[in-house]
Amino acid sequence: MNDLQPIALPGIDPRRPLVIAGPCSAETEEQVLDTARALAAEGIRIYRAGLWKPRTKPGGFEGVGTAGIPWMQRVKRETGMYTATEVATRDHVVAALKGGIDVLWIGARTAANPFAMQEIADALRGQDVPVLVKNPVSPDLELWIGAIERIHNAGIRRLAAIHRGFTSIDKSIYRNHPMWAIPIELHRRLPSLPIFCDPSHIGGKRELIAPLSQQAMDLGFDGLIVESHCSPDCAWSDKAQQVTPDVLAYIIRNLVIRDETITTESLNELRDKIDKLDDQLLELLARRMRVSRDIGQYKKEHNMPVLQAQRYEELLDKRARQAVQMGMDREFMRSVLQAIHEESVRQQMEVLG
Ligand code: PEP
Ligand code: MN
Repeated sequence: MNDLQPIALPGIDPRRPLVIAGPCSAETEEQVLDTARALAAEGIRIYRAGLWKPRTKPGGFEGVGTAGIPWMQRVKRETGMYTATEVATRDHVVAALKGGIDVLWIGARTAANPFAMQEIADALRGQDVPVLVKNPVSPDLELWIGAIERIHNAGIRRLAAIHRGFTSIDKSIYRNHPMWAIPIELHRRLPSLPIFCDPSHIGGKRELIAPLSQQAMDLGFDGLIVESHCSPDCAWSDKAQQVTPDVLAYIIRNLVIRDETITTESLNELRDKIDKLDDQLLELLARRMRVSRDIGQYKKEHNMPVLQAQRYEELLDKRARQAVQMGMDREFMRSVLQAIHEESVRQQMEVLG
């Protein structure tokens, strides 16, 4: 995929972050226009609003549909902003393009469905419109790449990904777990594909928008898509994760964009530090394995089994909690400990064998 073109639209500052902002849903003409005017006044150039809303359960607000297209056209005319909306079917694509929507995005539920993705790709063939593909709800990188490839195969070259977090059974502070390793791996696999972060859907709460946006910038993301509403508490969908346009502008102004601050020299020093720490880590691990072997010896002499499941579960749980307090991810710590444990068991078995 080395034939991609920049997503930035004419007249938009190409420096990161490229910001797309607007309400989760278009609700009324007044709400769409009030929010758009306030965002335009804050310098936002691409306006998002969901016209068709994929709701988890029936009975909720499912969007105003094509009735909202003239509202989006007014936004363009009156503020000069570009407009963006979510498409999930062939009909959405046709209606959005006919209505002059400038940017399309594909939602997380749709991206998880190859049939829906193919239908959208077929509808996009021959069109030249920027398309942003959200990650599927499950942490499945291949499915995400597959969805992106279908759009690329249809001839779309202004293409980007949106990282909006993943459903997880583990309780956490996030609505959708960020699992940053997945978009980082996406970047390694498709280096020319721009990646946006959607801190509203990852965090699920207003107060997480700023820290998640900063994290995305620190990881080199290209843009942000943030939910912003003129009166978030009255929003018809996703009210907890929308901020007013002035709060959004404040968050963006305060982002630290670290591009040139790290010189090669200081970077080398930091890499040196990492190398030394890795040496120490290895040394510690080897020492820990030696203790495991001693335990193996002890168990052998006292006819005890190698695996003691209860102690292991307690240990895992305690250390995972401790890791969180030290600013590390719980899942990360669990997998590190699991790998160490596997090697310990192998070493003990060697002593027994
Ligand atoms: C949205 O952007 O409002 C939306 C429905 O997002 P997602 O597909 O990420 O749930
Ligand atoms: Mn939303």
